[in-house]
Amino acid sequence: MVEPIVIDVITIFPQMLKGFLEESMMKRASNKNIVRFNMVDLRTCTDDVHRTTDDRPYGGGPGMVMKPEPIFKAVESVAGEKARVILMTPQGRRFDQAYARELSQEKHLVFVCGHYEGVDERVCEKLVTDEVSIGDYVLTNGVVAAAVVIDSVVRLLPGVLGAEDGAAEESFSEGLLEFPQYTRPSEFRGMKVPGILSSGNHAEIAKWRSDQALDRTRKRRPDLIEKHKLDAGERPAKVLIRKKKKKE
Ligand code: SAM
Repeated sequence: MVEPIVIDVITIFPQMLKGFLEESMMKRASNKNIVRFNMVDLRTCTDDVHRTTDDRPYGGGPGMVMKPEPIFKAVESVAGEKARVILMTPQGRRFDQAYARELSQEKHLVFVCGHYEGVDERVCEKLVTDEVSIGDYVLTNGVVAAAVVIDSVVRLLPGVLGAEDGAAEESFSEGLLEFPQYTRPSEFRGMKVPGILSSGNHAEIAKWRSDQALDRTRKRRPDLIEKHKLDAGERPAKVLIRKKKKKE
């Protein structure tokens, strides 16, 4: 039996993640023992009666900074040598699909969620292996950011998504945005589904989708075209077509 990936989340707000982990794909993944989630309440790693996790910044200034001792204690209580210890911070490496794929190969992820003005710099220096940002904006704390990363990693683990919603064909998997999707009805408020999609000609459908994906990426995200050096002559290697589900 394959061992589940272990995901620890260290936060002063463990309740914030509860609903997220107990619904939909995250629930499915833990029910199938593909992932094991563990919340660590940072306040249980303090030594004083007030369960203090923050203090004023050296040098003055507004806000509070998260103290190093509880974070070190929390991480050291769960992380072995091989764990990736990930600090959520707007100053970190920008998260993307390639990074999600990289993390999905790991066996143990430990997320450290900041709050207030962030965490004492010694945590960054000595404790974490990765500093991760989910984008160029500032959230009030790292739990929501960790949830974003966890979701995108867990859905890539084998067995989490069914064949009907597989991750292999979607945006970024081939360096492009995904082609437009339609479902029934074939006409809605005068808007028709492109005829090619009900033609039954799979080669033509694949070509249409590939063209659409390239066109859409060029218009919306030219940076992706640049990054993957795709031009009109160079299409994604994989043909973007969904397999029909077998009838029972
Ligand atoms: N003072 C920090 C700065 O200017 O870089 C921002 C701290 S922010 C208010 C509080 C916490 O939210 C951070 O420690 C981090 O854990 C989380 N956070 C905020 N924005 C984030 C982002 N874009 N990506 C990842 N984590 C973020």
